[in-house]
Amino acid sequence: MVMPTLPSYAATQVIVVGSGLAGLSAASQLASHKIPVRLLERSTKLGGNSIKASSGINGAPTKYQSLATPDAKFYEDTVKSAGPAFISSENSQRQKLVETLTSSSSSAIDWLVDEKGIDLCTVAQLGGHSLPRTHRGSGQLPPGAAIVTTLLKDLRTNPLVQVETSCIVTKIIQSQGQATGVEYTFGGEKRLLKGPVVFASGGFAGDAHGMLAKYRPDLADIPSTNEPRPGSQNLLIDVGAQPLDMNLVQVHPTSFVDPKDPSNPLKFLAAELLRGEGGLLLHSGKRFVNEMETRQHITDTIMRILPAKDTTSSLRQWDVTLVLDEGCYEAAKSHIDFYLWKGLMVKTTVGDLKDSESAIISIQDYSDMAAGRAEDPYGRKAFAHWTLGQVTLESVVYVGRITPAIHFTMGGVMFNERSEVLDGNRQPIKGLWAAGEVTGGLHGENRLGGSSLLECVVFGRIAGDQASAFYKKL
Ligand SMILES: Cc1cc2nc3c(=O)[nH]c(=O)nc-3n(C[C@H](O)[C@H](O)[C@H](O)COP(=O)(O)OP(=O)(O)OC[C@H]3O[C@@H](n4cnc5c(N)ncnc54)[C@H](O)[C@@H]3O)c2cc1C
Repeated sequence: MVMPTLPSYAATQVIVVGSGLAGLSAASQLASHKIPVRLLERSTKLGGNSIKASSGINGAPTKYQSLATPDAKFYEDTVKSAGPAFISSENSQRQKLVETLTSSSSSAIDWLVDEKGIDLCTVAQLGGHSLPRTHRGSGQLPPGAAIVTTLLKDLRTNPLVQVETSCIVTKIIQSQGQATGVEYTFGGEKRLLKGPVVFASGGFAGDAHGMLAKYRPDLADIPSTNEPRPGSQNLLIDVGAQPLDMNLVQVHPTSFVDPKDPSNPLKFLAAELLRGEGGLLLHSGKRFVNEMETRQHITDTIMRILPAKDTTSSLRQWDVTLVLDEGCYEAAKSHIDFYLWKGLMVKTTVGDLKDSESAIISIQDYSDMAAGRAEDPYGRKAFAHWTLGQVTLESVVYVGRITPAIHFTMGGVMFNERSEVLDGNRQPIKGLWAAGEVTGGLHGENRLGGSSLLECVVFGRIAGDQASAFYKKL
């Protein structure tokens, strides 16, 4: 069949919407092909939620993993975590998407480390992963900030790339079925820009009263780890993009309840690596779950078996204590020092814990499991850097109060392994690509920790390559 040729039009750039990691990865790739880029960001600040990422980015196999045999289980773990949504008939793309994500993960790490010079040498095992594969640096800077600031610095010195803030994209312009530009506002003034479009506008986990209220009204009173901002998926849906999995919202099991401001709906994330490096969870002094299970499982367990408790506001939040010992502290020092400084965690003793009589027994049991003297009834196998052997009332621990909070939206616009945005007939909408949290279908029912930064790099770079090839033919 001869494909009809698309009408060409005058464009002097590719447009990237959003300055999170997906947008920055796409822009970097476009710039590497010597394509002019206009990156539009609605906020006054750059970096989106990506800059807040604190646990790391997945990659397997990589030279940093130090495993006896190379890690070949990333695909399997991702499918397992995605759950029944993975095999649903709605999207035959799911398998290809997960294959692309996992098989491109080691080259994504290589790109960040070898080409961009970002330190990602420390590897942790997060919940739902069967092996350690989440990479971060060895220094103080959290991985999201390290990656975003490096890419941004690179782009800002590239004369081909124009990064503009306070530009709210309000519409995708279409001509004869292809996306040919965007409408946006700057300082209240409406502007037009022509060019192929890469959409990297993030998720809607911070859109409590808009998209969240529409797709998951039951979560309306739960706090969030995301910056409050409206979701932008509708702009894509307006030009025919097919929404997928919009009701699948990840509630992260561990965000800090700040003792100074407990009723603030915006929560600081208690990074997953705190559990990954050996931390345990207590309620009324007792463990209740395998802390290395998926986020979904831990959240469901907290919400199902523990009473929601908040004395100060209408928020629905819980009272769970995260506990780490000195060994875990050393492994996650830069994170914990920051949380101590913010007043989100305290250094204390077992004797000073709430419900200390139960807590000392629970922590001793946990120490015995970590030392191989006992089996965990909840099935935890990896205890990472937990070193406390004999637990006494004087044993030093690092603790914080945590609660589940809305964290990530698995749903978004349907796309394929070439980052093309798909319409209701599963056909690509010409001139339009998407990457990052704005897309749906990749993670199924539960995103694995570390896989979002990864999807931004993998599909952002693919979008950059594809849009570059398209632009050259205009
Ligand atoms: C606290 C926290 C910690 C996290 N930790 C990790 C982690 O360790 N590992 C991991 O893999 N994931 C982590 N995540 C998830 C991950 O950071 C995000 O899912 C991911 O970074 C999303 O990247 P993105 O580029 O798609 O969107 P974002 O980074 O959110 O960027 C989207 C950008 O688009 C802009 N935008 C939106 N609409 C418009 C519009 N209409 N016009 C112009 N601009 C627009 C937004 O202002 C924003 O700057 C974390 C998330 C949070 C909140």
